[in-house]
Amino acid sequence: MQQVIGATNYTWNGDSLSFSNSQHNIRFYQGRRKADVDGTTVWLNIQPNGSVPGGDWRLGAVDLDLFQLCVLPQAEGNPKPLRILLDPGHGGDDNGACSENPPLKEKELTLALAKRIAGHLKKAGLHVDLTRTRDSTLTLAERVRLARKKKADIFLSIHANHAGNTEATGVETYVLPPSGYPGTAEGSRPRGWQIGNRNDYHNTLLGFSIHSKLAVQTNATDRGLKRQSFFVLRETGCPAVLLEFGFLSNRGETLRMLTSSWQEQCAAAVTAGVTAYAKRLGALDQAVAEKRARDAEANERWRRHLASVKTNAPPLTPVSPPLPEPVATNPTYAASSPSAFFRGTNTAPAEVNTLIDFYTTGTLE
Ligand SMILES: [Zn+2]
Repeated sequence: MQQVIGATNYTWNGDSLSFSNSQHNIRFYQGRRKADVDGTTVWLNIQPNGSVPGGDWRLGAVDLDLFQLCVLPQAEGNPKPLRILLDPGHGGDDNGACSENPPLKEKELTLALAKRIAGHLKKAGLHVDLTRTRDSTLTLAERVRLARKKKADIFLSIHANHAGNTEATGVETYVLPPSGYPGTAEGSRPRGWQIGNRNDYHNTLLGFSIHSKLAVQTNATDRGLKRQSFFVLRETGCPAVLLEFGFLSNRGETLRMLTSSWQEQCAAAVTAGVTAYAKRLGALDQAVAEKRARDAEANERWRRHLASVKTNAPPLTPVSPPLPEPVATNPTYAASSPSAFFRGTNTAPAEVNTLIDFYTTGTLE
């Protein structure tokens, strides 16, 4: 963590572990996938392994990687010009979730919100399209195809929530889980690689950029940046986010969502998030390219190592030599058992940098 955020201290209070420096304050909770980054809730792809008192606490490599490349870096450059496709959820035959009192259909709210967001994004100089501008029926596949047709750089799907528990409130932001990892919801099962996984880093930066602004600027309950393999997230070729703005099952929240002041706040927050993403895109592209080059180099070393082991071994049978074992281009995302991403060895009691050591040493196993 020292190398990720330059943190010089950490505190463990028996339940949570926090790292802080002048720029960041990050908290992880024992036995939970929940984390807190500078006041924003972020759900991890995998529960950290081990225990802090035991001195063997480890953040999953996939989460460490995403934190290091997408969540924590703050370097900003000139904003890249982006084409944004806004997707008001549902429409036509599909009402989505409904509130009875006051009467409100999700398809109406998402369209109204999308139009407000489009207005703010355009004012910020961005190019905006919508998947629908009226109450029309669109399949999920049609929405995804439009992203390709419109050459969208980012896809934002707009929704409102519903729950059996009428007390539930708040905003949540979804991005696709990395290949081989389950979604945030209890009982969610992992999937293999999907088209959307091409953009794992960009999805995370986009999701975090928007969610951190939304949760703060709208004063909503922060339900977190979550992961779920929704169709529009896994099948869209560009970075994609699905936003659940609030609960139609909660009367107070529904009344609030109907106000133009709330809708304006949301539109401003989404625009601030997209703008932050646009400014950090250059740095992320560079960091991702550098990481892929490091991975390729490590894989090449490993390939040569395997080849030399096989050359030196006495031949068992005179068959053509087998090819070296292929190594995943990006080992962090290799679809093997998640436990493979942790090292089981104990090191010194919970040093700040134990979190990062397995990442930076770069030794091959
Ligand atoms: Zn919906």
